[in-house]
Amino acid sequence: MDFYQPSTVDEAVRVKAEHPDAVPIAGGTDVMVELNFDARRPTALLDLGRLTELAEWRLEDGHVRLGAAVPYTRIVAELGDVLPGLAMAARTVGSPQIRNRGTVGGNLGSASPAGDAHPPLLATTADVEVASVRGTRTVPVREFFSGPKRSVLAPDELITAVTVPVHKGPQQFAKVGTRNAMVIAVCSFAVALDLSTRTVGTGIGSAGPTPLRAREAEEFAAAELPWDTRDPLPDNVSRAFGQLVAAAARPIDDVRGSAAYRRHALSVLARRTLGWAWQEVI
Ligand SMILES: Cc1cc2nc3c(=O)[nH]c(=O)nc-3n(C[C@H](O)[C@H](O)[C@H](O)COP(=O)(O)OP(=O)(O)OC[C@H]3O[C@@H](n4cnc5c(N)ncnc54)[C@H](O)[C@@H]3O)c2cc1C
Repeated sequence: MDFYQPSTVDEAVRVKAEHPDAVPIAGGTDVMVELNFDARRPTALLDLGRLTELAEWRLEDGHVRLGAAVPYTRIVAELGDVLPGLAMAARTVGSPQIRNRGTVGGNLGSASPAGDAHPPLLATTADVEVASVRGTRTVPVREFFSGPKRSVLAPDELITAVTVPVHKGPQQFAKVGTRNAMVIAVCSFAVALDLSTRTVGTGIGSAGPTPLRAREAEEFAAAELPWDTRDPLPDNVSRAFGQLVAAAARPIDDVRGSAAYRRHALSVLARRTLGWAWQEVI
């Protein structure tokens, strides 16, 4: 197996163009599992560990430009104030060891419907920045996933960053698993309220072929939340929101849970997270 270790993004995209089969490795928490289980035998690995640009984040015009290889531990420690939804999700990933290594770029690269970073990125309308020798393009995360563990990333492209709007209201994330830590989500849900535009964003994890948004639920909540009076959230609104989220899911029966259970759990997660978020408003 060849091993490439570029030190600049330019060099990395050149390698990727010349060797499209080279598998990028960031934290390695997905790649190494696949190698260890012999699920994958790449001809080459492309180590992203020396690309300092990918390991940095900065504030830019009301957005955080989060380098693809910033590990979850740093998102939790440094970005809770500006990206609360993503930081909450990052807190639930794996164990301290996994959070020290694992990255949002790797989560997107794997494109698992169960990836915990995806729901908050969907709820906040984040963009994915990808680079190749052909240049840089920006893909809305809502258009990034094309199927189970598939994305629109071309074989010569690398994810360089995600651009996430700084929060303009409360955000929440919740996940159901068979235990409290080190668990793949049975289902997960993120909600983001934007108090300036009075809009609501959602993201559903592990309940469809790709991470999904619940568009009707978003429109319903945006229309029904008592933005002016900031009254407590009416029970019928949070319940109807939960039902619309459950209806937007496209779950399957598998070893982690049945489709019916996932729908039910999602309606509960959605109802609760909207309630917690609104609690911060009133
Ligand atoms: C014990 C354990 C527990 C886990 N728990 C969770 C969990 O709770 N929640 C969760 O979501 N995940 C979990 N995971 C999965 C994994 O940790 C995450 O998916 C993590 O985000 C992967 O990031 P990474 O940097 O380690 O990716 P890597 O393993 O380095 O890469 C993953 C994939 O993305 C590609 N890739 C990586 N970076 C880029 C890039 N910049 N551009 C293009 N492609 C790229 C790789 O080629 C590979 O296909 C767990 C894994 C383990 C082993």
